[in-house]
Amino acid sequence: GRVDNPYAGVKAYVNPEWSAHAAAEPGGSRIANQPTGVWLDRIAAIAGANGSMGLRAHLDAALAQGAGVVQLVVYDLPGRDCSALASNGELGPTDLPRYKSEFIDPIAAILGDAKYKDLRIVTVVEIDSLPNLVTNTGSKPTATPACDTMKANGNYVNGVAYALGKLGALPNVYNYLDVGHHGWLGWDDNFGPSADLLAQTAQASGSKANVAGFITNTANYGALKEPYFTIDDTVNGTSVRQSKWIDWNRYTDELSYAQAFRNRLVQAGFDSGIGMLIDTSRNGWGGAARPSGPGPKTTVDAYVDGGRLDRRIHLGNWCNQSGAGLGERPKTAPESGIDAYVWIKPPGESDGASSEIPNDEGKGFDRMCDPTYTGNPRNNNNMSGALAGAPLSGHWFSAQFQELMRNAYPAL
Ligand code: BGC
Repeated sequence: GRVDNPYAGVKAYVNPEWSAHAAAEPGGSRIANQPTGVWLDRIAAIAGANGSMGLRAHLDAALAQGAGVVQLVVYDLPGRDCSALASNGELGPTDLPRYKSEFIDPIAAILGDAKYKDLRIVTVVEIDSLPNLVTNTGSKPTATPACDTMKANGNYVNGVAYALGKLGALPNVYNYLDVGHHGWLGWDDNFGPSADLLAQTAQASGSKANVAGFITNTANYGALKEPYFTIDDTVNGTSVRQSKWIDWNRYTDELSYAQAFRNRLVQAGFDSGIGMLIDTSRNGWGGAARPSGPGPKTTVDAYVDGGRLDRRIHLGNWCNQSGAGLGERPKTAPESGIDAYVWIKPPGESDGASSEIPNDEGKGFDRMCDPTYTGNPRNNNNMSGALAGAPLSGHWFSAQFQELMRNAYPAL
Protein backbone atom coordinates (compact mmCIF):
# COMPACT_ATOMS: atom_id res chain seq x y z
CA GLY A 1 0.00 0.00 0.00
CA ARG A 2 0.94 3.64 -0.29
CA VAL A 3 2.62 5.58 2.47
CA ASP A 4 1.35 9.02 3.49
CA ASN A 5 4.38 10.90 2.14
CA PRO A 6 6.39 9.15 -0.60
CA TYR A 7 9.43 11.34 0.08
CA ALA A 8 9.66 10.38 3.77
CA GLY A 9 12.65 8.31 4.82
CA VAL A 10 14.05 7.62 1.35
CA LYS A 11 16.61 9.09 -1.04
CA ALA A 12 15.32 10.70 -4.22
CA TYR A 13 16.70 9.68 -7.62
CA VAL A 14 19.35 11.92 -9.18
CA ASN A 15 18.93 12.05 -12.97
CA PRO A 16 22.45 11.31 -14.29
CA GLU A 17 21.80 13.22 -17.52
CA TRP A 18 20.82 16.45 -15.79
CA SER A 19 23.56 15.90 -13.25
CA ALA A 20 26.16 15.66 -16.02
CA HIS A 21 24.96 18.95 -17.56
CA ALA A 22 25.13 20.65 -14.17
CA ALA A 23 28.52 19.19 -13.30
CA ALA A 24 29.99 20.32 -16.64
CA GLU A 25 29.25 23.97 -15.73
CA PRO A 26 31.78 25.96 -13.69
CA GLY A 27 30.50 25.76 -10.11
CA GLY A 28 27.81 23.29 -11.08
CA SER A 29 29.13 20.48 -8.90
CA ARG A 30 27.64 22.36 -5.91
CA ILE A 31 24.17 21.22 -6.99
CA ALA A 32 24.78 18.39 -9.45
CA ASN A 33 23.76 15.78 -6.86
CA GLN A 34 20.25 17.21 -6.38
CA PRO A 35 17.22 15.17 -7.48
CA THR A 36 15.27 16.70 -10.39
CA GLY A 37 12.21 15.70 -12.40
CA VAL A 38 12.50 13.27 -15.32
CA TRP A 39 10.24 14.64 -18.05
CA LEU A 40 8.39 12.17 -20.25
CA ASP A 41 7.58 14.90 -22.75
CA ARG A 42 7.04 12.86 -25.91
CA ILE A 43 6.36 9.26 -26.89
CA ALA A 44 10.00 8.73 -27.86
CA ALA A 45 11.11 9.69 -24.32
CA ILE A 46 9.73 6.37 -23.04
CA ALA A 47 12.32 4.41 -25.02
CA GLY A 48 14.85 7.26 -24.94
CA ALA A 49 14.74 10.11 -27.48
CA ASN A 50 17.87 10.92 -29.52
CA GLY A 51 20.12 8.57 -27.60
CA SER A 52 19.06 9.74 -24.14
CA MET A 53 17.96 7.46 -21.29
CA GLY A 54 14.50 5.96 -21.55
CA LEU A 55 12.13 5.21 -18.68
CA ARG A 56 13.53 1.74 -17.92
CA ALA A 57 17.07 3.09 -17.95
CA HIS A 58 16.07 5.73 -15.39
CA LEU A 59 14.32 3.20 -13.15
CA ASP A 60 17.27 0.81 -13.35
CA ALA A 61 19.63 3.66 -12.49
CA ALA A 62 17.38 4.56 -9.54
CA LEU A 63 17.65 1.01 -8.22
CA ALA A 64 21.42 1.13 -8.69
CA GLN A 65 21.56 4.41 -6.73
CA GLY A 66 19.58 2.87 -3.89
CA ALA A 67 16.98 5.58 -4.40
CA GLY A 68 13.53 5.11 -2.88
CA VAL A 69 11.58 7.71 -4.85
CA VAL A 70 11.66 8.71 -8.53
CA GLN A 71 10.00 11.87 -9.86
CA LEU A 72 8.44 11.64 -13.34
CA VAL A 73 6.59 14.35 -15.24
CA VAL A 74 3.91 12.88 -17.50
CA TYR A 75 3.57 15.56 -20.19
CA ASP A 76 2.24 14.80 -23.66
CA LEU A 77 -1.47 15.64 -23.71
CA PRO A 78 -3.27 16.17 -27.00
CA GLY A 79 -3.12 19.88 -27.85
CA ARG A 80 -0.54 20.46 -25.12
CA ASP A 81 0.18 23.94 -23.74
CA CYS A 82 -2.96 25.56 -25.18
CA SER A 83 -2.31 29.07 -23.83
CA ALA A 84 1.28 29.30 -25.06
CA LEU A 85 3.46 28.02 -27.87
CA ALA A 86 6.86 27.25 -26.35
CA SER A 87 5.86 23.79 -25.09
CA ASN A 88 3.37 22.74 -27.72
CA GLY A 89 3.85 19.04 -28.27
CA GLU A 90 3.64 16.28 -30.82
CA LEU A 91 -0.04 15.34 -30.37
CA GLY A 92 -2.79 17.32 -32.04
CA PRO A 93 -6.03 18.29 -30.27
CA THR A 94 -7.86 15.11 -31.34
CA ASP A 95 -5.05 12.63 -30.68
CA LEU A 96 -6.51 11.19 -27.46
CA PRO A 97 -6.41 7.57 -28.76
CA ARG A 98 -2.67 7.87 -29.44
CA TYR A 99 -2.13 9.49 -26.04
CA LYS A 100 -3.74 6.50 -24.37
CA SER A 101 -2.22 3.66 -26.38
CA GLU A 102 1.20 5.06 -27.32
CA PHE A 103 1.99 7.13 -24.23
CA ILE A 104 0.10 6.25 -21.02
CA ASP A 105 -0.27 2.48 -21.62
CA PRO A 106 3.44 1.88 -22.28
CA ILE A 107 4.43 4.02 -19.26
CA ALA A 108 2.02 2.10 -17.04
CA ALA A 109 3.34 -1.22 -18.37
CA ILE A 110 6.92 -0.31 -17.43
CA LEU A 111 6.01 1.11 -14.02
CA GLY A 112 4.06 -2.07 -13.32
CA ASP A 113 7.13 -4.30 -13.78
CA ALA A 114 7.66 -6.20 -10.52
CA LYS A 115 11.32 -5.25 -10.64
CA TYR A 116 10.34 -1.71 -9.67
CA LYS A 117 7.73 -2.53 -7.03
CA ASP A 118 9.77 -1.10 -4.16
CA LEU A 119 10.42 2.23 -5.88
CA ARG A 120 7.94 4.93 -5.03
CA ILE A 121 7.05 6.64 -8.29
CA VAL A 122 5.87 10.25 -8.05
CA THR A 123 4.08 11.21 -11.25
CA VAL A 124 3.42 14.89 -11.89
CA VAL A 125 0.51 14.59 -14.29
CA GLU A 126 0.07 17.03 -17.16
CA ILE A 127 1.00 20.42 -15.76
CA ASP A 128 -0.89 23.52 -16.94
CA SER A 129 -3.67 21.56 -18.62
CA LEU A 130 -6.72 21.73 -16.33
CA PRO A 131 -5.98 25.27 -15.01
CA ASN A 132 -5.90 26.48 -18.63
CA LEU A 133 -9.47 25.25 -19.10
CA VAL A 134 -10.59 27.47 -16.22
CA THR A 135 -8.64 30.65 -16.88
CA ASN A 136 -8.01 30.79 -20.62
CA THR A 137 -11.36 29.94 -22.16
CA GLY A 138 -14.74 31.43 -23.01
CA SER A 139 -15.40 35.11 -22.56
CA LYS A 140 -12.27 35.77 -20.46
CA PRO A 141 -9.91 38.36 -21.99
CA THR A 142 -7.13 35.79 -21.51
CA ALA A 143 -8.88 33.12 -23.61
CA THR A 144 -7.09 31.45 -26.52
CA PRO A 145 -8.71 29.52 -29.41
CA ALA A 146 -6.58 26.43 -28.61
CA CYS A 147 -7.80 26.33 -24.98
CA ASP A 148 -11.40 26.77 -26.12
CA THR A 149 -10.88 23.79 -28.44
CA MET A 150 -9.46 21.61 -25.66
CA LYS A 151 -12.32 22.52 -23.36
CA ALA A 152 -14.94 21.81 -26.02
CA ASN A 153 -13.49 18.46 -27.15
CA GLY A 154 -12.93 17.18 -23.61
CA ASN A 155 -9.52 15.73 -24.40
CA TYR A 156 -7.65 17.41 -21.53
CA VAL A 157 -10.13 16.10 -18.95
CA ASN A 158 -10.38 12.68 -20.59
CA GLY A 159 -6.63 12.38 -21.04
CA VAL A 160 -5.84 13.36 -17.46
CA ALA A 161 -8.57 11.06 -16.12
CA TYR A 162 -7.17 8.18 -18.18
CA ALA A 163 -3.62 8.82 -16.92
CA LEU A 164 -4.79 9.03 -13.30
CA GLY A 165 -6.76 5.81 -13.58
CA LYS A 166 -4.05 3.77 -15.30
CA LEU A 167 -1.19 5.03 -13.13
CA GLY A 168 -3.27 5.15 -9.97
CA ALA A 169 -3.99 1.42 -10.31
CA LEU A 170 -0.31 0.75 -9.54
CA PRO A 171 0.20 0.57 -5.77
CA ASN A 172 3.64 2.23 -5.83
CA VAL A 173 2.60 5.21 -8.01
CA TYR A 174 1.74 8.57 -6.42
CA ASN A 175 -0.15 10.87 -8.79
CA TYR A 176 0.22 14.61 -8.19
CA LEU A 177 -1.97 17.02 -10.13
CA ASP A 178 -0.95 20.53 -11.06
CA VAL A 179 -2.55 23.51 -9.33
CA GLY A 180 -0.63 26.20 -11.21
CA HIS A 181 0.76 28.84 -8.87
CA HIS A 182 -0.50 31.76 -6.81
CA GLY A 183 0.02 34.22 -9.66
CA TRP A 184 -2.31 32.19 -11.83
CA LEU A 185 -5.10 30.67 -9.72
CA GLY A 186 -4.87 32.89 -6.62
CA TRP A 187 -7.88 34.99 -7.63
CA ASP A 188 -11.34 34.01 -6.36
CA ASP A 189 -12.80 33.38 -9.83
CA ASN A 190 -9.98 30.89 -10.63
CA PHE A 191 -9.32 29.22 -7.26
CA GLY A 192 -12.57 27.41 -6.42
CA PRO A 193 -13.50 26.50 -10.01
CA SER A 194 -10.03 24.97 -10.52
CA ALA A 195 -10.36 22.85 -7.36
CA ASP A 196 -13.78 21.68 -8.51
CA LEU A 197 -12.53 20.77 -12.00
CA LEU A 198 -9.65 18.79 -10.47
CA ALA A 199 -12.13 16.93 -8.28
CA GLN A 200 -14.44 16.15 -11.22
CA THR A 201 -11.52 14.93 -13.30
CA ALA A 202 -10.19 12.72 -10.51
CA GLN A 203 -13.67 11.32 -10.02
CA ALA A 204 -13.87 10.63 -13.76
CA SER A 205 -10.72 8.51 -13.39
CA GLY A 206 -12.68 6.15 -11.16
CA SER A 207 -11.85 7.55 -7.74
CA LYS A 208 -10.41 10.63 -6.10
CA ALA A 209 -8.10 8.20 -4.30
CA ASN A 210 -6.12 7.96 -7.56
CA VAL A 211 -4.62 11.31 -6.54
CA ALA A 212 -2.00 11.43 -3.77
CA GLY A 213 -1.46 15.14 -3.87
CA PHE A 214 -0.91 18.33 -5.85
CA ILE A 215 1.96 20.49 -6.97
CA THR A 216 2.34 24.26 -7.19
CA ASN A 217 4.81 26.46 -9.07
CA THR A 218 5.98 23.82 -11.55
CA ALA A 219 8.56 25.50 -13.80
CA ASN A 220 7.43 28.86 -12.41
CA TYR A 221 9.15 31.57 -10.41
CA GLY A 222 6.77 32.53 -7.56
CA ALA A 223 8.54 33.22 -4.26
CA LEU A 224 8.07 30.58 -1.57
CA LYS A 225 7.55 33.17 1.18
CA GLU A 226 7.25 36.94 0.92
CA PRO A 227 8.49 37.95 4.36
CA TYR A 228 8.09 41.74 4.12
CA PHE A 229 4.33 42.09 3.63
CA THR A 230 1.17 40.04 4.19
CA ILE A 231 -2.11 40.05 2.30
CA ASP A 232 -3.78 41.75 5.29
CA ASP A 233 -1.45 44.78 5.33
CA THR A 234 -2.72 48.26 4.54
CA VAL A 235 -0.96 51.52 3.73
CA ASN A 236 -2.77 54.72 4.70
CA GLY A 237 -5.96 52.66 4.93
CA THR A 238 -5.56 51.07 1.47
CA SER A 239 -5.21 47.27 1.21
CA VAL A 240 -2.09 45.90 -0.45
CA ARG A 241 -4.51 43.85 -2.54
CA GLN A 242 -5.01 47.08 -4.48
CA SER A 243 -1.32 47.36 -5.41
CA LYS A 244 -0.38 46.80 -9.07
CA TRP A 245 1.69 43.75 -8.15
CA ILE A 246 -0.95 41.90 -6.10
CA ASP A 247 -3.91 43.22 -8.13
CA TRP A 248 -6.64 41.69 -5.90
CA ASN A 249 -4.98 38.29 -5.59
CA ARG A 250 -5.70 36.52 -2.26
CA TYR A 251 -2.12 35.24 -1.86
CA THR A 252 1.34 36.75 -1.84
CA ASP A 253 3.46 33.62 -2.08
CA GLU A 254 3.53 29.91 -2.89
CA LEU A 255 3.55 28.50 0.64
CA SER A 256 0.40 30.30 1.78
CA TYR A 257 -1.23 29.47 -1.56
CA ALA A 258 -0.32 25.77 -1.42
CA GLN A 259 -1.65 25.38 2.11
CA ALA A 260 -4.90 27.18 1.30
CA PHE A 261 -5.40 25.21 -1.91
CA ARG A 262 -4.89 22.00 0.02
CA ASN A 263 -7.75 22.92 2.34
CA ARG A 264 -9.99 23.81 -0.61
CA LEU A 265 -9.22 20.46 -2.28
CA VAL A 266 -10.19 18.56 0.86
CA GLN A 267 -13.42 20.55 0.81
CA ALA A 268 -13.87 19.46 -2.83
CA GLY A 269 -13.79 15.84 -1.68
CA PHE A 270 -10.15 14.78 -1.76
CA ASP A 271 -8.79 12.75 1.13
CA SER A 272 -7.59 14.80 4.10
CA GLY A 273 -4.23 13.01 3.80
CA ILE A 274 -3.32 14.65 0.47
CA GLY A 275 0.05 16.42 0.44
CA MET A 276 1.39 19.32 -1.56
CA LEU A 277 4.65 19.69 -3.47
CA ILE A 278 6.17 23.06 -4.31
CA ASP A 279 8.65 23.39 -7.17
CA THR A 280 11.42 25.53 -5.67
CA SER A 281 13.95 25.02 -8.44
CA ARG A 282 14.00 28.64 -9.59
CA ASN A 283 12.15 30.77 -7.04
CA GLY A 284 15.00 31.81 -4.74
CA TRP A 285 15.34 35.47 -5.85
CA GLY A 286 18.65 36.02 -4.05
CA GLY A 287 21.54 38.16 -5.21
CA ALA A 288 22.19 41.88 -4.96
CA ALA A 289 18.65 42.99 -5.91
CA ARG A 290 17.01 41.08 -3.03
CA PRO A 291 15.29 43.46 -0.58
CA SER A 292 16.38 43.19 3.03
CA GLY A 293 13.28 44.74 4.59
CA PRO A 294 9.81 46.14 3.87
CA GLY A 295 9.23 48.95 1.37
CA PRO A 296 8.26 52.48 2.47
CA LYS A 297 4.70 52.97 3.75
CA THR A 298 4.03 55.85 1.35
CA THR A 299 1.74 54.08 -1.15
CA VAL A 300 0.69 50.44 -1.52
CA ASP A 301 2.80 50.19 -4.68
CA ALA A 302 5.94 51.60 -3.03
CA TYR A 303 5.43 49.31 -0.05
CA VAL A 304 4.89 46.11 -2.05
CA ASP A 305 7.42 46.84 -4.80
CA GLY A 306 10.06 47.87 -2.27
CA GLY A 307 9.65 44.73 -0.19
CA ARG A 308 8.90 41.94 -2.61
CA LEU A 309 11.48 39.21 -3.22
CA ASP A 310 9.91 38.22 -6.55
CA ARG A 311 11.53 40.78 -8.91
CA ARG A 312 9.53 39.92 -12.02
CA ILE A 313 8.01 42.72 -14.09
CA HIS A 314 4.61 41.02 -13.77
CA LEU A 315 3.37 37.90 -11.96
CA GLY A 316 2.15 36.46 -15.26
CA ASN A 317 5.65 36.29 -16.74
CA TRP A 318 6.86 32.70 -17.01
CA CYS A 319 9.64 32.32 -19.55
CA ASN A 320 13.35 32.27 -18.55
CA GLN A 321 12.91 35.07 -16.04
CA SER A 322 15.78 37.47 -15.75
CA GLY A 323 17.16 37.84 -12.21
CA ALA A 324 15.84 34.54 -10.86
CA GLY A 325 17.84 32.24 -8.59
CA LEU A 326 17.73 28.67 -7.36
CA GLY A 327 15.26 28.30 -4.49
CA GLU A 328 15.14 26.00 -1.48
CA ARG A 329 17.00 22.77 -2.06
CA PRO A 330 14.74 19.70 -2.27
CA LYS A 331 13.50 18.90 1.23
CA THR A 332 11.00 16.46 2.74
CA ALA A 333 8.03 17.61 4.86
CA PRO A 334 9.29 21.19 5.29
CA GLU A 335 5.99 22.73 6.45
CA SER A 336 2.50 21.68 7.46
CA GLY A 337 0.60 20.09 4.58
CA ILE A 338 3.68 20.08 2.30
CA ASP A 339 5.10 16.67 1.32
CA ALA A 340 8.25 18.21 -0.13
CA TYR A 341 10.04 21.07 -1.80
CA VAL A 342 11.09 19.59 -5.14
CA TRP A 343 13.07 20.54 -8.22
CA ILE A 344 10.69 19.37 -10.91
CA LYS A 345 11.84 21.85 -13.54
CA PRO A 346 15.51 20.98 -13.94
CA PRO A 347 17.42 24.24 -13.44
CA GLY A 348 19.31 25.16 -16.60
CA GLU A 349 16.68 23.77 -18.97
CA SER A 350 15.08 26.52 -21.02
CA ASP A 351 11.39 27.46 -20.86
CA GLY A 352 11.36 28.39 -24.54
CA ALA A 353 13.40 29.90 -27.35
CA SER A 354 13.85 33.68 -27.44
CA SER A 355 13.54 33.68 -31.22
CA GLU A 356 12.09 31.24 -33.71
CA ILE A 357 14.04 27.95 -33.98
CA PRO A 358 12.84 25.26 -36.42
CA ASN A 359 12.51 21.89 -34.67
CA ASP A 360 10.93 18.44 -34.88
CA GLU A 361 9.54 18.48 -31.31
CA GLY A 362 6.31 20.32 -32.11
CA LYS A 363 7.52 23.36 -30.20
CA GLY A 364 6.40 26.79 -31.28
CA PHE A 365 7.88 30.24 -30.78
CA ASP A 366 6.19 32.06 -27.93
CA ARG A 367 6.98 35.74 -27.75
CA MET A 368 6.75 35.59 -23.95
CA CYS A 369 10.28 34.18 -24.32
CA ASP A 370 11.41 37.17 -26.43
CA PRO A 371 12.95 39.91 -24.26
CA THR A 372 11.69 42.61 -26.65
CA TYR A 373 8.03 41.50 -26.47
CA THR A 374 5.58 43.94 -24.89
CA GLY A 375 3.10 41.31 -23.71
CA ASN A 376 -0.47 40.10 -24.06
CA PRO A 377 -3.58 39.98 -21.84
CA ARG A 378 -2.15 37.08 -19.78
CA ASN A 379 0.64 39.28 -18.43
CA ASN A 380 -1.44 42.45 -18.61
CA ASN A 381 0.62 43.71 -21.56
CA ASN A 382 3.92 44.02 -19.74
CA MET A 383 7.42 43.31 -21.01
CA SER A 384 8.21 39.58 -20.92
CA GLY A 385 11.23 39.80 -18.59
CA ALA A 386 12.80 36.87 -20.46
CA LEU A 387 16.54 36.34 -20.87
CA ALA A 388 17.98 36.71 -24.38
CA GLY A 389 19.73 33.90 -26.23
CA ALA A 390 17.54 31.04 -24.99
CA PRO A 391 17.32 27.70 -26.84
CA LEU A 392 14.15 25.61 -27.32
CA SER A 393 12.22 24.59 -24.21
CA GLY A 394 13.91 21.72 -22.44
CA HIS A 395 17.30 22.40 -24.03
CA TRP A 396 20.32 23.38 -21.94
CA PHE A 397 20.69 27.11 -21.33
CA SER A 398 24.06 27.67 -19.77
CA ALA A 399 23.74 31.42 -19.17
CA GLN A 400 20.48 30.89 -17.27
CA PHE A 401 22.02 28.11 -15.19
CA GLN A 402 24.89 30.42 -14.22
CA GLU A 403 22.52 33.22 -13.24
CA LEU A 404 20.36 30.81 -11.21
CA MET A 405 23.44 29.78 -9.24
CA ARG A 406 24.57 33.40 -8.71
CA ASN A 407 21.14 34.40 -7.42
CA ALA A 408 20.48 31.26 -5.38
CA TYR A 409 18.67 31.72 -2.07
CA PRO A 410 19.66 30.12 0.22
CA ALA A 411 23.02 30.99 -1.36
CA LEU A 412 25.23 28.13 -2.52
C1 BGC B 1 9.59 21.37 -22.24
C2 BGC B 1 9.95 19.92 -22.13
C3 BGC B 1 11.09 19.74 -21.14
C4 BGC B 1 10.73 20.37 -19.82
C5 BGC B 1 11.81 20.27 -18.78
C6 BGC B 1 9.31 21.94 -20.87
O1 BGC B 1 9.12 23.32 -20.98
O2 BGC B 1 8.50 21.54 -23.09
O3 BGC B 1 10.34 19.46 -23.39
O4 BGC B 1 11.38 18.38 -20.96
O5 BGC B 1 10.41 21.73 -20.00
O6 BGC B 1 12.88 21.10 -19.04
